[in-house]
Amino acid sequence: MYIDNFTIMVGAVAATLMFGGGFFFFWLQDRQATWLAWWTGPFVLGAAGIALFVARGLIADWISIGLANALLFMAFSMVWQGARVFVDKRPNLPSVLLPAALWMVLCAIPGYMELTTLRIVIATITIGVFSVLTALELRGGAAEKLPSHRAASFVLTSFSILLAIRIPLTGYLPFPMGDTPMASTFLGFVNLVVLGHVGAFAMLMVSLTKERREAEQRNFALLDPLTGLMNRRAFMGAAERMARRPAQQPMALLVLDLDKFKQVNDRFGHEVGDRVLTGFAQVAESRTRPSDQLFRLGGEEFCILLPDTELTQALSVAERIRESFALSRTDVRGLSVGTTVSIGLAMSESGRVHLDALLEYADAALYEAKARGRNQVVVAGPTALRGPMIDPRPISQRRLA
Ligand code: GH3
Ligand code: MG
Ligand code: MG
Repeated sequence: MYIDNFTIMVGAVAATLMFGGGFFFFWLQDRQATWLAWWTGPFVLGAAGIALFVARGLIADWISIGLANALLFMAFSMVWQGARVFVDKRPNLPSVLLPAALWMVLCAIPGYMELTTLRIVIATITIGVFSVLTALELRGGAAEKLPSHRAASFVLTSFSILLAIRIPLTGYLPFPMGDTPMASTFLGFVNLVVLGHVGAFAMLMVSLTKERREAEQRNFALLDPLTGLMNRRAFMGAAERMARRPAQQPMALLVLDLDKFKQVNDRFGHEVGDRVLTGFAQVAESRTRPSDQLFRLGGEEFCILLPDTELTQALSVAERIRESFALSRTDVRGLSVGTTVSIGLAMSESGRVHLDALLEYADAALYEAKARGRNQVVVAGPTALRGPMIDPRPISQRRLA
């Protein structure tokens, strides 16, 4: 088999430029996605670097080896910076310029150009470090759980392994893996593998962006714009998921309704009412764990799902929220406005959870809390509900603790 290297390298320059153009085009369409602008650079610089490698022998070595590698260092650092920007970190500019500048200084030292093995090891380590840093950055952002995260991490790891293998084999393998004279077929094969990695990585970066935008749109549709809590639609989604997946632990549901809220609106205006609602959301968030899910079901009615929670714990969370909110105040033109909250609590044992039924129980308990004079927590009875919770009695006849 004969693979023509010149053709592959020229193809690589064209493909790399095309990827760069693609990122630039995507960035024009989505200017908020500044990481796409960062990922344009590496492909343009990479294409220039490869073109200089191709011209080896026709131009001075310090350009075809020195400058070409410096451009590649900048390119790989920019891939890392794009990943940093993608996960909301600031780009690290010195790391784009310093390694490339240091390398050019090294190339200016007489005799350095003849030390092929050392040169290859230094270049490999530099590019490898940037690849590993990129992989770590993307792994750090993987909490976002985008489907392409794993694949991107795999491609970067595979590339880093390729680079790691290169170092001990430098003295034995032909160029570009090692420093012995190049064997055309082998060189072509390695170039193809590298190009495959670059292409796969570019595609995955585009998918990550697209997946993030889709997730954002989904989340946007599930969030309440006033409080930032999840909305009723999100609650229905959670209910559907829970009906499918049995829970291993008991779970609690709180339904919370602000007391005499209509009076707050009537006396101070709707805007003040809104501020009291956001204030309540903040109190509720500060008194719950990150794993608890808070929803605004509508108006001044909220609910909180407490996974892996026993009755006593749930009761203390509910009491903490009730107490903190009763003490909290919203300042309005020198006046301090405050109200209280009534809470209904229903428990579900492990197994399939029917949130609709659980909500009905918690609602009945809330109703009872209102009837008893508000600003209190009432636990629905029977305190723990098993399996499909169907209670044939009308709510008014159910025994409440
Ligand atoms: P109770 O103690 O029995 O719950 O009395 P309440 O006044 O809180 O209950 P009611 O259901 O009579 O009133 C709820 C009020 O909530 C009426 C409505 O104007 C107000 N409301 C609903 N949504 C919003 C909102 O988004 N912003 C504001 N400011 N008020 C809202
Ligand atoms: Mg109310
Ligand atoms: Mg209400």
